Amino acid sequence: MKRKINFYAGPSTLPLTVLQQIQEEIVDYKGAGLSLIETSHRSKEYDEVHNDAITTIKELLLVPDNYQILFLGGGATLQFSMIPLNFISGRKECDFIVSGAWAKKAYSDAKKVGKVNVLFDGEKDSYTTLPDAGSIKVNPGSEYLHITSNETIGGIQFHEWPDTGNVPIISDMSSDMLSRPLPVKKFGLIYAGAQKNLGPAGVTLVIIRKDLLEKCPDSLTAYLNYSIHAAKNSIYNTPPVFSIYAMKLVVERIKKMGGLGEMQKVNERKASLLYDCIDDLKDFYNCPVDKKYRSKMNVIFRLPNEDLEKRFVEGSAGEGMLGLKGHRSVGGIRASIYNSMPEDGVESLVQYMKSFARKNG
Ligand SMILES: *Cc1c(COP(=O)(O)O)cnc(C)c1O
Repeated sequence: MKRKINFYAGPSTLPLTVLQQIQEEIVDYKGAGLSLIETSHRSKEYDEVHNDAITTIKELLLVPDNYQILFLGGGATLQFSMIPLNFISGRKECDFIVSGAWAKKAYSDAKKVGKVNVLFDGEKDSYTTLPDAGSIKVNPGSEYLHITSNETIGGIQFHEWPDTGNVPIISDMSSDMLSRPLPVKKFGLIYAGAQKNLGPAGVTLVIIRKDLLEKCPDSLTAYLNYSIHAAKNSIYNTPPVFSIYAMKLVVERIKKMGGLGEMQKVNERKASLLYDCIDDLKDFYNCPVDKKYRSKMNVIFRLPNEDLEKRFVEGSAGEGMLGLKGHRSVGGIRASIYNSMPEDGVESLVQYMKSFARKNG
């Protein structure tokens, strides 16, 4: 098989070695005589996978002891509900940075539950820029500040974190979790749907500061309450065992590669390859995003007109490249270059961009 160079935004490319290990183990898990996905989630075999995944994520992010890792269902989208239900129901309030399509969805759910103060709304600039981290001033009465560390559709990313004093930062990191080292202690809660940077769809990684668990209201139904999942080590109900198993393999690979510092270096090299190409050929390609906040995960660019963009995408398929069409809401081209995208995949795209510009510029 000739593998495609896969630039889909999510679900997205996985390391070939991980797919092959899954293939090897899927029928007979380590000689157990059955598959892990037909094994009880209360078995010793599954327990080991579950806890190894937690341990490796803790090691990679240097997660302090006063935080707990949770594996939940419902995607990042369920977090848009769970966060406000747990922390601002009963006339409480939170602060929000509305930086793009994903932040807007989180915001629209939060305001159904409590009061939301919008500290920044990028709409007037079509969500192409962010506030400087140093300029963000939270309301002291807020339960949390919600940010979206990387806007997957808009291609903008925070590279620094605000100082919020006692107000915890909650961040949707669905599309940049584990792409770089992180000062976890600055955050109250971090969450990420797995299918961008962590593994297959089905599991959502949540890292929560333990004191926040005491704020979860008893009035909530069980699944929506973080403290219930925390008390049961995310096995209150059946967890998405296959996705957690695959995620374990992905995070172990990151550890083998040298951890998040190394991951960051590779990701910066890959992003620079693309942005340098766009900037060098600026009469043909244009990145609409404020340079300071360009995403290292989702690189967005435009060509001189939509007809050329259509031909660019069609031509890329002939070169074995997939998923380069921008999100329907913004158009243009989007190359998602998550952790698992190899450097030579990005190099191939750059070659294609140069030759396409030469022929059509
Ligand atoms: C994909 C994405 C989501 C939605 O994730 P689901 O797992 O589909 O619910 C939320 N936020 C960001 C930043 C995303 O990229």
